[in-house]
Amino acid sequence: MDIQKLVRENIKTMKPYSSARDEFKDFDKKMIFLDANENPFENGVNRYPDPKQQKVKTEFAKLRNVNPDTILLGNGSDEVLDLVFRAFCEPNKDNIITLPPTYGMYAVLADLNAIENREVLLNQDFQPNVSEILKKIDEKTKIIFFCSPNNPTGNCITKESILEVLTNFNGLVIIDEAYIDFSNDETWINSIGKFPNLIVTQTLSKAYGMAGIRMGILYANEAIIQILDRIKPPYNISDLTQNVALKKIMKFNSIDDDLFSILSNKSTLIKELLEVKFVERIYPSDANFILIKVDDADLRYKQLIENGIVVRNRSNQPLCENCIRITIGTERENYELIETFKGLQNG
Ligand SMILES: *Cc1c(COP(=O)(O)O)cnc(C)c1O
Repeated sequence: MDIQKLVRENIKTMKPYSSARDEFKDFDKKMIFLDANENPFENGVNRYPDPKQQKVKTEFAKLRNVNPDTILLGNGSDEVLDLVFRAFCEPNKDNIITLPPTYGMYAVLADLNAIENREVLLNQDFQPNVSEILKKIDEKTKIIFFCSPNNPTGNCITKESILEVLTNFNGLVIIDEAYIDFSNDETWINSIGKFPNLIVTQTLSKAYGMAGIRMGILYANEAIIQILDRIKPPYNISDLTQNVALKKIMKFNSIDDDLFSILSNKSTLIKELLEVKFVERIYPSDANFILIKVDDADLRYKQLIENGIVVRNRSNQPLCENCIRITIGTERENYELIETFKGLQNG
Protein backbone atom coordinates (compact mmCIF):
# COMPACT_ATOMS: atom_id res chain seq x y z
CA MET A 1 0.00 0.00 0.00
CA ASP A 2 1.43 3.36 -1.08
CA ILE A 3 0.64 6.17 1.37
CA GLN A 4 1.86 8.77 -1.16
CA LYS A 5 -1.12 7.90 -3.38
CA LEU A 6 -3.49 9.09 -0.64
CA VAL A 7 -1.86 12.50 -0.23
CA ARG A 8 -3.54 15.61 -1.70
CA GLU A 9 -1.82 16.94 -4.84
CA ASN A 10 -1.07 20.40 -3.38
CA ILE A 11 0.50 18.84 -0.29
CA LYS A 12 2.77 16.64 -2.40
CA THR A 13 4.12 19.64 -4.29
CA MET A 14 4.13 22.35 -1.63
CA LYS A 15 7.34 23.72 -0.20
CA PRO A 16 7.23 23.59 3.62
CA TYR A 17 8.11 26.65 5.70
CA SER A 18 11.73 26.52 6.68
CA SER A 19 12.24 28.04 10.12
CA ALA A 20 15.49 29.35 11.54
CA ARG A 21 15.55 26.32 13.82
CA ASP A 22 15.12 23.97 10.84
CA GLU A 23 18.08 25.44 9.02
CA PHE A 24 20.46 25.31 11.95
CA LYS A 25 19.77 22.55 14.47
CA ASP A 26 23.03 21.86 16.25
CA PHE A 27 21.60 22.83 19.64
CA ASP A 28 24.35 21.25 21.67
CA LYS A 29 27.10 23.51 20.32
CA LYS A 30 27.63 26.80 22.10
CA MET A 31 26.61 29.31 19.43
CA ILE A 32 25.50 32.90 19.27
CA PHE A 33 21.98 32.79 17.85
CA LEU A 34 21.25 35.83 15.71
CA ASP A 35 19.06 34.01 13.19
CA ALA A 36 15.45 34.09 14.40
CA ASN A 37 14.82 37.72 15.36
CA GLU A 38 14.30 36.69 18.96
CA ASN A 39 14.82 39.01 21.91
CA PRO A 40 18.36 38.19 23.12
CA PHE A 41 17.72 38.82 26.85
CA GLU A 42 17.21 35.53 28.69
CA ASN A 43 13.88 35.24 30.55
CA GLY A 44 13.27 31.51 30.16
CA VAL A 45 11.01 31.82 27.12
CA ASN A 46 12.70 34.34 24.83
CA ARG A 47 13.79 31.61 22.36
CA TYR A 48 11.56 29.73 19.92
CA PRO A 49 10.80 26.16 21.03
CA ASP A 50 12.28 23.07 19.37
CA PRO A 51 10.04 22.58 16.29
CA LYS A 52 10.74 18.82 16.30
CA GLN A 53 10.20 18.42 20.07
CA GLN A 54 13.08 15.93 20.20
CA LYS A 55 13.34 15.56 23.99
CA VAL A 56 9.62 14.98 24.52
CA LYS A 57 9.45 12.49 21.66
CA THR A 58 12.46 10.60 22.96
CA GLU A 59 10.77 10.16 26.34
CA PHE A 60 7.43 9.14 24.79
CA ALA A 61 9.28 6.66 22.61
CA LYS A 62 10.88 5.11 25.70
CA LEU A 63 7.60 5.04 27.63
CA ARG A 64 5.65 3.42 24.77
CA ASN A 65 8.53 1.39 23.37
CA VAL A 66 8.34 2.86 19.85
CA ASN A 67 10.71 4.68 17.51
CA PRO A 68 10.68 8.51 18.03
CA ASP A 69 10.30 8.91 14.25
CA THR A 70 6.83 7.36 14.46
CA ILE A 71 5.55 10.22 16.67
CA LEU A 72 3.90 13.53 15.80
CA LEU A 73 2.94 15.95 18.57
CA GLY A 74 0.17 18.52 18.31
CA ASN A 75 -1.68 21.21 20.20
CA GLY A 76 -4.13 18.62 21.56
CA SER A 77 -5.50 15.67 19.59
CA ASP A 78 -7.60 18.22 17.75
CA GLU A 79 -4.56 19.58 15.94
CA VAL A 80 -3.06 16.25 14.92
CA LEU A 81 -6.44 15.07 13.60
CA ASP A 82 -6.92 18.30 11.67
CA LEU A 83 -3.47 17.84 10.10
CA VAL A 84 -4.49 14.39 8.86
CA PHE A 85 -7.57 15.90 7.18
CA ARG A 86 -5.52 18.64 5.60
CA ALA A 87 -2.85 16.27 4.28
CA PHE A 88 -5.10 13.53 2.92
CA CYS A 89 -8.66 14.75 2.32
CA GLU A 90 -9.46 16.81 -0.78
CA PRO A 91 -12.18 19.37 0.11
CA ASN A 92 -15.56 18.82 -1.58
CA LYS A 93 -14.38 15.52 -3.08
CA ASP A 94 -13.25 13.03 -0.46
CA ASN A 95 -15.19 11.42 2.37
CA ILE A 96 -14.58 9.86 5.77
CA ILE A 97 -16.52 7.29 7.80
CA THR A 98 -17.39 7.78 11.47
CA LEU A 99 -19.30 5.53 13.84
CA PRO A 100 -21.78 7.43 16.03
CA PRO A 101 -22.37 7.77 18.88
CA THR A 102 -18.78 8.93 19.11
CA TYR A 103 -16.50 11.90 19.75
CA GLY A 104 -18.02 14.98 18.11
CA MET A 105 -14.74 16.44 16.89
CA TYR A 106 -14.41 14.08 13.88
CA ALA A 107 -17.63 15.46 12.34
CA VAL A 108 -16.62 19.05 13.14
CA LEU A 109 -13.23 18.57 11.47
CA ALA A 110 -14.95 17.01 8.45
CA ASP A 111 -17.26 20.05 8.17
CA LEU A 112 -14.37 22.43 8.67
CA ASN A 113 -12.39 20.78 5.88
CA ALA A 114 -15.43 20.41 3.57
CA ILE A 115 -15.29 16.61 3.70
CA GLU A 116 -18.39 14.41 3.54
CA ASN A 117 -18.93 12.45 6.76
CA ARG A 118 -20.54 9.04 6.15
CA GLU A 119 -22.00 7.76 9.37
CA VAL A 120 -22.48 4.09 10.24
CA LEU A 121 -24.21 3.69 13.61
CA LEU A 122 -22.74 1.39 16.21
CA ASN A 123 -24.98 -1.57 17.08
CA GLN A 124 -26.89 -1.99 20.36
CA ASP A 125 -23.70 -3.21 22.09
CA PHE A 126 -21.91 -0.10 20.82
CA GLN A 127 -19.77 -2.21 18.47
CA PRO A 128 -19.19 -1.41 14.78
CA ASN A 129 -21.27 -2.88 11.99
CA VAL A 130 -18.29 -3.90 9.87
CA SER A 131 -20.18 -5.08 6.77
CA GLU A 132 -22.05 -1.74 6.65
CA ILE A 133 -18.75 0.13 7.00
CA LEU A 134 -17.18 -1.84 4.15
CA LYS A 135 -20.26 -1.14 1.98
CA LYS A 136 -19.93 2.63 2.55
CA ILE A 137 -16.32 2.72 1.30
CA ASP A 138 -15.68 4.07 -2.20
CA GLU A 139 -12.56 5.32 -3.99
CA LYS A 140 -12.96 8.72 -2.31
CA THR A 141 -13.00 7.35 1.24
CA LYS A 142 -9.81 8.51 2.94
CA ILE A 143 -10.27 7.90 6.68
CA ILE A 144 -12.27 5.57 8.94
CA PHE A 145 -12.40 6.66 12.58
CA PHE A 146 -12.54 4.30 15.54
CA CYS A 147 -12.60 5.63 19.08
CA SER A 148 -11.53 2.97 21.59
CA PRO A 149 -12.45 3.26 24.43
CA ASN A 150 -15.29 5.14 22.77
CA ASN A 151 -16.60 8.49 23.98
CA PRO A 152 -19.44 8.78 25.10
CA THR A 153 -20.23 5.05 25.44
CA GLY A 154 -17.08 4.08 27.40
CA ASN A 155 -16.47 0.66 25.83
CA CYS A 156 -13.55 -0.61 23.76
CA ILE A 157 -14.08 -1.58 20.13
CA THR A 158 -13.32 -5.27 19.54
CA LYS A 159 -9.97 -6.14 18.06
CA GLU A 160 -11.65 -8.30 15.40
CA SER A 161 -13.74 -5.41 14.02
CA ILE A 162 -10.77 -3.08 13.75
CA LEU A 163 -8.62 -5.80 12.14
CA GLU A 164 -11.28 -6.56 9.57
CA VAL A 165 -11.50 -2.91 8.52
CA LEU A 166 -7.72 -2.44 8.59
CA THR A 167 -7.15 -5.35 6.24
CA ASN A 168 -10.02 -4.53 3.86
CA PHE A 169 -9.57 -0.79 3.42
CA ASN A 170 -6.95 1.05 1.38
CA GLY A 171 -7.30 4.39 3.16
CA LEU A 172 -6.27 5.49 6.64
CA VAL A 173 -7.65 3.94 9.81
CA ILE A 174 -7.46 6.21 12.85
CA ILE A 175 -7.86 4.70 16.31
CA ASP A 176 -8.40 7.42 18.91
CA GLU A 177 -7.02 6.05 22.18
CA ALA A 178 -7.62 9.10 24.39
CA TYR A 179 -8.78 6.78 27.21
CA ILE A 180 -6.51 3.78 26.63
CA ASP A 181 -4.65 4.12 29.94
CA PHE A 182 -7.89 3.47 31.86
CA SER A 183 -8.48 0.24 29.96
CA ASN A 184 -7.07 -3.26 30.22
CA ASP A 185 -7.19 -3.57 26.45
CA GLU A 186 -3.90 -3.32 24.63
CA THR A 187 -2.94 -0.21 22.69
CA TRP A 188 -2.70 -0.49 18.88
CA ILE A 189 0.56 1.45 18.67
CA ASN A 190 2.53 -1.79 18.53
CA SER A 191 0.70 -2.77 15.32
CA ILE A 192 1.88 0.26 13.37
CA GLY A 193 4.75 -1.73 11.87
CA LYS A 194 2.25 -4.22 10.45
CA PHE A 195 -0.22 -1.73 8.97
CA PRO A 196 1.10 1.17 6.87
CA ASN A 197 -2.39 2.77 6.94
CA LEU A 198 -2.81 2.71 10.74
CA ILE A 199 -2.79 5.91 12.80
CA VAL A 200 -3.19 5.86 16.59
CA THR A 201 -3.82 9.03 18.60
CA GLN A 202 -3.42 9.54 22.33
CA THR A 203 -3.50 12.63 24.53
CA LEU A 204 -2.12 14.07 27.74
CA SER A 205 -5.59 15.46 28.55
CA LYS A 206 -7.06 12.49 30.43
CA ALA A 207 -4.97 9.87 32.28
CA TYR A 208 -1.92 12.15 32.40
CA GLY A 209 -4.02 14.92 33.96
CA MET A 210 -2.77 17.71 31.71
CA ALA A 211 -5.71 18.93 29.64
CA GLY A 212 -4.52 22.48 30.30
CA ILE A 213 -1.19 22.21 28.48
CA ARG A 214 -2.73 20.90 25.22
CA MET A 215 -0.68 18.01 23.90
CA GLY A 216 -1.90 15.31 21.56
CA ILE A 217 0.22 12.44 20.26
CA LEU A 218 -0.09 10.70 16.92
CA TYR A 219 1.67 7.41 16.22
CA ALA A 220 2.06 6.13 12.64
CA ASN A 221 4.64 4.89 10.18
CA GLU A 222 7.40 7.30 9.25
CA ALA A 223 5.89 7.78 5.78
CA ILE A 224 2.79 9.33 7.37
CA ILE A 225 4.71 11.26 10.04
CA GLN A 226 6.97 12.85 7.40
CA ILE A 227 3.96 14.10 5.43
CA LEU A 228 2.31 15.59 8.53
CA ASP A 229 5.60 17.10 9.71
CA ARG A 230 5.84 19.04 6.45
CA ILE A 231 2.51 20.80 7.00
CA LYS A 232 2.33 21.33 10.75
CA PRO A 233 2.81 24.87 12.07
CA PRO A 234 6.58 25.01 12.70
CA TYR A 235 6.45 25.86 16.41
CA ASN A 236 3.17 24.15 17.29
CA ILE A 237 4.18 23.08 20.82
CA SER A 238 5.26 25.86 23.16
CA ASP A 239 8.30 25.59 25.41
CA LEU A 240 6.02 25.75 28.45
CA THR A 241 4.05 22.75 27.21
CA GLN A 242 7.14 20.78 26.21
CA ASN A 243 8.76 21.31 29.61
CA VAL A 244 5.71 20.37 31.67
CA ALA A 245 5.05 17.34 29.48
CA LEU A 246 8.64 16.17 29.75
CA LYS A 247 8.57 16.22 33.55
CA LYS A 248 5.31 14.29 33.69
CA ILE A 249 6.22 11.66 31.09
CA MET A 250 9.50 10.89 32.83
CA LYS A 251 7.53 10.10 36.00
CA PHE A 252 4.54 8.41 34.39
CA ASN A 253 3.81 4.72 34.68
CA SER A 254 0.67 2.65 34.41
CA ILE A 255 0.32 2.28 38.16
CA ASP A 256 0.20 6.04 38.53
CA ASP A 257 -1.54 7.12 41.76
CA ASP A 258 -4.13 9.32 40.02
CA LEU A 259 -5.00 6.53 37.64
CA PHE A 260 -5.40 4.06 40.47
CA SER A 261 -7.68 6.42 42.44
CA ILE A 262 -9.85 7.17 39.42
CA LEU A 263 -10.37 3.47 38.69
CA SER A 264 -11.10 2.64 42.31
CA ASN A 265 -13.49 5.62 42.60
CA LYS A 266 -15.18 4.38 39.46
CA SER A 267 -16.00 0.97 40.97
CA THR A 268 -17.36 2.66 44.09
CA LEU A 269 -19.48 5.04 42.05
CA ILE A 270 -20.90 2.19 39.95
CA LYS A 271 -21.91 0.27 43.10
CA GLU A 272 -23.62 3.36 44.49
CA LEU A 273 -25.40 4.14 41.22
CA LEU A 274 -26.91 0.64 41.21
CA GLU A 275 -28.85 1.73 44.31
CA VAL A 276 -30.39 4.79 42.65
CA LYS A 277 -33.93 3.93 41.51
CA PHE A 278 -34.10 6.19 38.46
CA VAL A 279 -30.80 4.88 37.07
CA GLU A 280 -32.05 2.30 34.58
CA ARG A 281 -28.78 1.18 33.10
CA ILE A 282 -25.05 1.55 33.68
CA TYR A 283 -23.05 0.81 30.55
CA PRO A 284 -19.71 -1.03 30.90
CA SER A 285 -16.83 1.46 30.96
CA ASP A 286 -13.16 1.15 30.05
CA ALA A 287 -12.65 4.89 30.55
CA ASN A 288 -12.65 7.58 33.27
CA PHE A 289 -16.36 8.21 32.77
CA ILE A 290 -19.53 6.19 32.74
CA LEU A 291 -22.60 6.42 30.60
CA ILE A 292 -25.88 5.80 32.43
CA LYS A 293 -29.48 5.65 31.26
CA VAL A 294 -31.97 7.41 33.52
CA ASP A 295 -35.74 7.89 33.49
CA ASP A 296 -35.57 11.47 32.18
CA ALA A 297 -32.13 12.82 31.27
CA ASP A 298 -33.24 16.43 30.71
CA LEU A 299 -34.89 16.54 34.12
CA ARG A 300 -32.00 14.85 35.97
CA TYR A 301 -29.45 17.03 34.20
CA LYS A 302 -31.33 20.18 35.25
CA GLN A 303 -31.71 18.97 38.83
CA LEU A 304 -28.00 18.23 39.09
CA ILE A 305 -27.18 21.72 37.82
CA GLU A 306 -29.48 23.18 40.48
CA ASN A 307 -27.42 21.22 43.02
CA GLY A 308 -24.11 22.53 41.68
CA ILE A 309 -23.09 19.44 39.71
CA VAL A 310 -22.42 19.49 35.98
CA VAL A 311 -22.57 16.27 33.97
CA ARG A 312 -22.98 15.81 30.22
CA ASN A 313 -26.44 15.16 28.85
CA ARG A 314 -25.90 12.86 25.85
CA SER A 315 -29.60 12.31 25.12
CA ASN A 316 -29.42 13.88 21.69
CA GLN A 317 -26.83 11.34 20.49
CA PRO A 318 -28.06 8.32 18.53
CA LEU A 319 -28.61 5.20 20.73
CA CYS A 320 -28.15 7.39 23.82
CA GLU A 321 -31.73 8.35 24.60
CA ASN A 322 -31.97 9.53 28.23
CA CYS A 323 -28.27 8.98 28.73
CA ILE A 324 -25.97 11.02 30.94
CA ARG A 325 -22.19 10.86 30.86
CA ILE A 326 -20.51 11.23 34.22
CA THR A 327 -16.77 11.88 34.59
CA ILE A 328 -15.22 10.12 37.59
CA GLY A 329 -14.36 12.82 40.12
CA THR A 330 -12.64 12.73 43.48
CA GLU A 331 -14.07 10.56 46.24
CA ARG A 332 -15.71 13.67 47.71
CA GLU A 333 -17.19 14.80 44.37
CA ASN A 334 -18.60 11.36 43.65
CA TYR A 335 -20.08 11.23 47.15
CA GLU A 336 -21.81 14.59 46.55
CA LEU A 337 -23.22 13.27 43.28
CA ILE A 338 -24.62 10.13 44.91
CA GLU A 339 -26.06 12.07 47.84
CA THR A 340 -27.76 14.44 45.38
CA PHE A 341 -29.14 11.52 43.36
CA LYS A 342 -30.49 9.86 46.53
CA GLY A 343 -32.06 13.13 47.64
CA LEU A 344 -33.75 13.46 44.25
CA GLN A 345 -35.14 9.92 44.25
CA ASN A 346 -36.72 10.45 47.65
CA GLY A 347 -37.89 13.99 46.96
C1 LIG B 1 -10.96 14.08 25.44
C2 LIG B 1 -10.78 13.42 24.13
C3 LIG B 1 -9.69 13.73 23.32
C4 LIG B 1 -8.66 14.71 23.76
O1 LIG B 1 -8.55 15.78 22.94
P1 LIG B 1 -7.36 16.81 23.24
O2 LIG B 1 -7.51 17.77 22.12
O3 LIG B 1 -6.09 16.01 23.16
O4 LIG B 1 -7.58 17.38 24.59
C5 LIG B 1 -9.53 13.05 22.13
N1 LIG B 1 -10.40 12.12 21.74
C6 LIG B 1 -11.46 11.80 22.49
C7 LIG B 1 -12.37 10.73 22.05
C8 LIG B 1 -11.69 12.45 23.69
O5 LIG B 1 -12.77 12.15 24.42
